Amino acid sequence: MAVLGFPTMKRQMRVRQENVMAILLFATVLFVLAPFAAAQPTFSTTTFLEAVRTKFGKPASCKHPTCICSIADESIAWRLLSEYGSIFVAADAVRVPSHCIFENEKQVTEFQSSSRSSSEIMSGVTIELQDEAMTALLNAQAEARRIGLRITPLDGSIAGKRSYSDTIRIWNSRYLRALDHWVRRGKISPEEAQTARNDAVLVQIRKVMDWESTGLNFGTNIKGSIFSSTAPPGTSQHLSMLAFDVVQYANRNIRAIMNKHGWYQTVANDPPHFTFLGLTEKELPSRGLKNIVKGNYKFWVPDLK
Ligand SMILES: [Zn+2]
Repeated sequence: MAVLGFPTMKRQMRVRQENVMAILLFATVLFVLAPFAAAQPTFSTTTFLEAVRTKFGKPASCKHPTCICSIADESIAWRLLSEYGSIFVAADAVRVPSHCIFENEKQVTEFQSSSRSSSEIMSGVTIELQDEAMTALLNAQAEARRIGLRITPLDGSIAGKRSYSDTIRIWNSRYLRALDHWVRRGKISPEEAQTARNDAVLVQIRKVMDWESTGLNFGTNIKGSIFSSTAPPGTSQHLSMLAFDVVQYANRNIRAIMNKHGWYQTVANDPPHFTFLGLTEKELPSRGLKNIVKGNYKFWVPDLK
């Protein structure tokens, strides 16, 4: 063993002291930052598509909206997911369809009859929702009542569950009226409109997307997009019994109470429409949702990168 000279020993002691100080400083930083690290969402990097793919148990290769949505037309798949897709990352306690569109009444009836649901009379109309969504809504209504407010259904029983034929009827109330309007304005030919009236749903969606991209709006009263006004037949969140349209949506306190009970506005430009996600607001980014503010309202929509 070499015998060290006194200056060398002093230098080594100083180096050891500096190392100890550095370790203590590092430990202090870790101690201070630990609570913040723990507060981060577990899946903060999860994208929306990945969250849906995982939830549906689809293979790792299924990363594209056409596969996630089970719709071959890429632009329709993107559009449906971006408009109405938030529902697909709802809490596991509720049931969501494994594709973006129900093709007929039979598919809707099968989904609805095999999901646990309950009905309540609200403002004189029957509202039916999945059990967890109904319990949360009743709790929200009770909380609102305690501060002298009400949460009531908009436009009768279609505020809750809808049938496939309901979604056709509501879509046609905009779609057919807008076709007539644009024919009168000379923007769409009578022959083209006649064909469009009888097209299959996916073809109607494709054509409306094309027309609206040129400024021919199909929304309520020919204002805005039809996709913010009503979902195309078979694509409405109301079919899943996880949506509820609220009369008092403009009241900030009502929105806060709905949010607290897992109900969020998820369709941009449709503020009366709330979706039951059954999650806390802090959990939503971890499911691939982002919030956007339009008007006075905050919408939780898919973060489609
Ligand atoms: Zn709605």
